[in-house]
Amino acid sequence: MPIKLLNPLLASQIAAGEVIERPASVVKELLENSIDALASHISIDIEKGGVDLIRVRDDGVGIPKEELSLSILRYATSKIIEFEDLEKLVTLGFRGEALASISSVSRFTLISRTKDQNVGYKIFVEGQNETFEEKPTSHPIGTSVEVRDLFFNVSARRKFLRSDQTEFRQIEDVINKIALSNFAIGLSLKRNNRVVYDFDAANTLQQKLGRISHICGIAFVEQALEIDNERDGLKVKGWISKPSFSRNQADLQYLYINGRIVKDKTLSHALRSAYRDVLPKDRYPSFILFLELSPELVDVNVHPTKHEVRFRDSRMVHDFIYHAAQRVLSNAKGQFACLSNQPQENHEFCVCDANTNLLKPKEDEYKISSQFTPHVYLEQENSKMDSHFATENGKDESFKKEIENKIYYKAYEKQLGVETNKPMGYALAQLYGTYILAQNETGLILVDMHAACERIAYEKLKSDYDANKIASQTLLIPFTITCNSKEEGCIKEYGEDLRNLGLDIEFLNHDTLVVRKIPFLLCDIDIEQFVRDVLADLVEYGASDASKIQTDKILANFACHHSVRSNQKMTIEEMNSLLRQLEQTERGGQCSHGRPTWVHISLDKIKKMFMR
Ligand code: ADP
Ligand code: MG
Repeated sequence: MPIKLLNPLLASQIAAGEVIERPASVVKELLENSIDALASHISIDIEKGGVDLIRVRDDGVGIPKEELSLSILRYATSKIIEFEDLEKLVTLGFRGEALASISSVSRFTLISRTKDQNVGYKIFVEGQNETFEEKPTSHPIGTSVEVRDLFFNVSARRKFLRSDQTEFRQIEDVINKIALSNFAIGLSLKRNNRVVYDFDAANTLQQKLGRISHICGIAFVEQALEIDNERDGLKVKGWISKPSFSRNQADLQYLYINGRIVKDKTLSHALRSAYRDVLPKDRYPSFILFLELSPELVDVNVHPTKHEVRFRDSRMVHDFIYHAAQRVLSNAKGQFACLSNQPQENHEFCVCDANTNLLKPKEDEYKISSQFTPHVYLEQENSKMDSHFATENGKDESFKKEIENKIYYKAYEKQLGVETNKPMGYALAQLYGTYILAQNETGLILVDMHAACERIAYEKLKSDYDANKIASQTLLIPFTITCNSKEEGCIKEYGEDLRNLGLDIEFLNHDTLVVRKIPFLLCDIDIEQFVRDVLADLVEYGASDASKIQTDKILANFACHHSVRSNQKMTIEEMNSLLRQLEQTERGGQCSHGRPTWVHISLDKIKKMFMR
């Protein structure tokens, strides 16, 4: 066939293939346009799964009459003029492709009115193959886009669509993502003329949490830890779940970079690493995170649907997010946990100081960290959300109950002869040689002794180990490994990082490298596998936690061996000492397979059981 230029319609339809995959992609593009137009309210109407009708109306700045027909041409945009503008981009759109793509594969109506016009103007196109003119029509200031019969002229695409229900779920998903990052915008969604949801603008924290709980569920809000951090021009805000709210899929993970929802391997890895110690391998954390950084530091022009970005310094961003999340998780003391079920053999080569006498009370262990928030003990009925959403009356009621409980407790404390309140309360008895029964202001606490001791010992060993940084040991016989060119490049680029991980690796010749030093604790591992894991991490994410994973495993085994066993008799003082240490231990959370180290039974619940 001779070479010919594609006609503009065909070119648009091909481009539409990239941008408009399904009805949800139309909704995403239209919502982003409304946000860029500074809308304060957006309403969305869907019929069936969106193929029949998608209508998006906003009260934004509108499109002037003269620009209406231009707006649906390919590469027509008001958001950038020259390439450099990408570096200071503040809008979600910039490619000038969405309206052209959508209108080339649907029956498309655009109505808009700016504040300088008395009426709105409307254009209608069917697969963009007609001439059209702007017709005056009544319309409030803002823009309405109506997309009917999506893919009516590209039957191949239509065949790939799923059921209406599935397509609608995808649309909801898009709207949820947008709703979570644009709290100031009111959003309403109707399907087949029935209201699905209607969000008012959410400005206060309470309103924001209300919107989040609607989208992510109340349990997420109850289990969410706030994150707010800033360093070197990077800012992160949002909420991450306590480990107790892990999920079996990564379905509640919302990550935004400069307001744009993205999937990013570097950041996912950073978050996974932050949770590594408190979540089992097959569980996923939940989060809503907003990362803000100068547009110069991130390239958004990587993917047609703008789902991916590239960082100028991905390592810096990785470490920033990792530390921010880790700090919040560590500070969530009081949600105690046990260690993983690491194999308990092979600890002979551990050389850590084992004099961690867990049971001996120490003076300074009686201090309670300011980060220790008693509300983590309250059960769901008394939880944070309750106080956020309780009616005034309800609030009074629960407040009264709380005071009542405190009075009981005070009387009990007097009996015991102790003065200060402790979040984990005071030990009453040891049950079945395995559990500690304790009482605090708000109810009873049962602690799994062994799991609790393990967690305390593990955290202590880790901080001791970290304080000495990762020490290396020189191998008596250097270890050689063949390598490929990617791994070679990686060693050149990350030499310093490798040394920080306790590894000394050098090139012998073009396809062989030699390992001279490895981290101190890791003398018994498969060196080749370990080095390959580290290099693979560095190639993929620009960071590696393979070294930490290995040492943590060993420290975990070690901690397990030096913790109290079941059926070990403990005195009340020893039990109280353990409770005080638990209060001080970082990253209590759940054990790595989600088992708690303690549970709380609220006095309210006990009263209810006895119908009091
Ligand atoms: P992009 O958003 O990448 O600029 P689009 O094809 O989505 O490209 O939109 C083209 C142009 O039409 C936009 O740059 C904007 O000027 C205008 N536009 C589209 N939707 C709206 C809207 N809802 N309100 C105001 N202007 C809009
Ligand atoms: Mg756009």
